Amino acid sequence: MNMIENKTVIEKFLYPNKVVVLTGAGVSAASGVPTFRGKEGLWKKYSPEELANPRAFIAQPELVWEWYLWRRKLISKVKPNFAHYALVDLEEMNSNFTLITQNVDNLHREAGSTYIIELHGNLMKNRCFDCNKSSTADVRLENGVPLCDNCGGLIRPDVVWFGESLPLQAFQSARIAANESDLFISVGTSGLVEPAASLPFLAKARGAYIIEINTEETPLTSQSDLFVQDSADIALPDFIKQIKLVINN
Ligand code: NAD
Ligand code: ZN
Repeated sequence: MNMIENKTVIEKFLYPNKVVVLTGAGVSAASGVPTFRGKEGLWKKYSPEELANPRAFIAQPELVWEWYLWRRKLISKVKPNFAHYALVDLEEMNSNFTLITQNVDNLHREAGSTYIIELHGNLMKNRCFDCNKSSTADVRLENGVPLCDNCGGLIRPDVVWFGESLPLQAFQSARIAANESDLFISVGTSGLVEPAASLPFLAKARGAYIIEINTEETPLTSQSDLFVQDSADIALPDFIKQIKLVINN
């Protein structure tokens, strides 16, 4: 980003303006977490869409769990990257800042972001498939899929699957934030998974300035005011450097 050219962009970041950041799998790519649509998205021969849905779970709960246990193991070994830490700094620099994530990997929390709207749940948590009660069951498949102590239903990962609704409260908070935003930054998301994908468009319709950071073009690119084609772990720290330059001048 050219500093002088984008002085106005940086000013949009400053308080009291409302800043909203929406993150997707691309933000965790530099930590070594595979995205769904990258070449590493496949597990065995399955695509995420085939496994991350309620029908697959009803038909083959152990297979779906096997995939999630593989992802849990992977995520337990990774660390937040410069993109996650940059988002912690941005939260500290503007008290009118909201972070919305589609990621389920807990890395924003681990990095130190305090207020996070998790649209798609959290990979490390469990709940009951039937009654939704959260569960701390230690899932090991040797004894089959554990059952809910409340209703006997199957325990599932506490994430939102394809074809399922988002947690109502989280999505409502996300919509309100998008509606109120002056600057909306979409980072590392393909913009293909609804309804999260609609949030930047909602912000744009309300007059927000839209920045997209992605290594590839997406359906949002042509609608954004500024497209930064770069890796999130480089572009976000760079953005902070430029904000600091503007503040100090
Ligand atoms: P996606 O896999 O559909 O898209 C990832 C996007 O990130 C792509 O547009 C890609 O071009 C971009 N990207 C890849 N590397 C990047 C980098 N280094 N810097 C910037 N951009 C980069 O992911 P999505 O849009 O988040 O949506 C898919 C769904 O997948 C979500 O529901 C999410 O819950 C789930 N998911 C989560 C994780 C995670 O928690 N880390 C990982 C994979 C999938
Ligand atoms: Zn139950």
